[in-house]
Amino acid sequence: MADNRPICVLCNRSVVHRRRLEITHALFEENAANAQYIIEAIAPQQVEYNGREYICRPCWQRAQRAVQPNNNPAPHECVLQVEEYSRVPSTSANCVFDRCRSVSRRRIPENVRITLLLHSNLFIPDSARICDTHLTSNDWEELIDSPNLRHDFNSTHFVQTLELLKKAVLKKIF
Ligand SMILES: [Zn+2]
Ligand SMILES: [Zn+2]
Repeated sequence: MADNRPICVLCNRSVVHRRRLEITHALFEENAANAQYIIEAIAPQQVEYNGREYICRPCWQRAQRAVQPNNNPAPHECVLQVEEYSRVPSTSANCVFDRCRSVSRRRIPENVRITLLLHSNLFIPDSARICDTHLTSNDWEELIDSPNLRHDFNSTHFVQTLELLKKAVLKKIF
């Protein structure tokens, strides 16, 4: 970006004269629900935690209201516990591999997501990211046995799962 004015990652407005929060790992770790909402809202742009990313106070508060379950019942609040299937966390904040702290975060290739779903009952949400090292290591067995897998599925996961299956059927390559 040629323009170096600090702007809010959500509304893109200048935060020079506005109350703002600097985006840091600590801020996002302490406010996980908010962080996820924000990261999903700005996807596919990646958060770099480079000390030049901000969110303005109004956007932060809006995110906070959106993630508070009782104030704002979202349509996909219905959650199913499905023991036969597992998924990785939906966060884009770090690599899907448990406790991986690598800063690179890429989208997980569709063929990998389809293969894991078809052969291992493991669903990878659209928002999940993977680091360069784990992407090239190709060690999916480690992911299948990962201690951070979950069994709760919401309607977004349901739709994304069907989309993956549709693509698999249409490509007829699996
Ligand atoms: Zn804003
Ligand atoms: Zn990783």
